[in-house]
Amino acid sequence: MKIGIVTGIPGVGKTTVLSYADKILTEKGIPHKIVNYGDYMLNTALKEGYVKSRDEIRKLQIEKQRELQTLAARRIIEDLSLLGDNGIGLIDTHAVIRTPAGYLPGLPRHVIEVLSPKVIFLLEADPRIILERQKRDSSRARSDYSDTNVINEVIQFARYSAMASAVLVGASVKVVINQEGDPSIAASDIINSLM
Ligand code: ATP
Ligand code: AMP
Ligand code: MG
Repeated sequence: MKIGIVTGIPGVGKTTVLSYADKILTEKGIPHKIVNYGDYMLNTALKEGYVKSRDEIRKLQIEKQRELQTLAARRIIEDLSLLGDNGIGLIDTHAVIRTPAGYLPGLPRHVIEVLSPKVIFLLEADPRIILERQKRDSSRARSDYSDTNVINEVIQFARYSAMASAVLVGASVKVVINQEGDPSIAASDIINSLM
């Protein structure tokens, strides 16, 4: 099984691009599974009564976030291990999380060693385009990332963070642009890099 980790700033379009990747892989008849890291963390966080919605997770105390993060990695790899040898697993997550206590690595040693990806993708777009996407998407609360200076800083930290994680497991890091109007271009790029 080959695992690709797809990271990027909130609102850049990870979940959208991965829904296109799902369609492409299904059409090609390639066994695959796409998981959202935040879903796993939210599941536990809701059960424990820590939060009411997913955008509150990154405001929790760092210890709580780390606890949810560790458990999520274990559950995700359990679910992905059901895929056969020629399967593709795609994980929708973040290389870095901007929290009130500072930048938290999304893929620290105990997470990246469990997930053991072939490639870590950095999904990127022009900060002004990311802002527009955030504005159009009222289903989420991303005001803590809604400033071009903040977005630029997070993009830099995400690159350093992704490479630092990649070094621990010998993965490659690939920047993929999510072009306005056509998420399938990035989806194909991601799939081709894993074949
Ligand atoms: P988060 O990290 O907060 O989950 P995300 O990276 O998963 O964010 P999405 O929810 O996939 O982001 O996308 C945010 C918004 O951008 C959505 O409204 C989506 O429809 C839009 N969008 C995504 N990709 C594109 C694209 N290529 N062109 C235009 N709009 C896009
Ligand atoms: P998302 O829908 O991708 O924004 O995920 C919801 C929330 O889950 C994020 O805002 C983070 O708080 C959290 N999250 C997702 N992936 C990770 C990760 N690898 N490490 C820590 N927190 C994460
Ligand atoms: Mg998403």
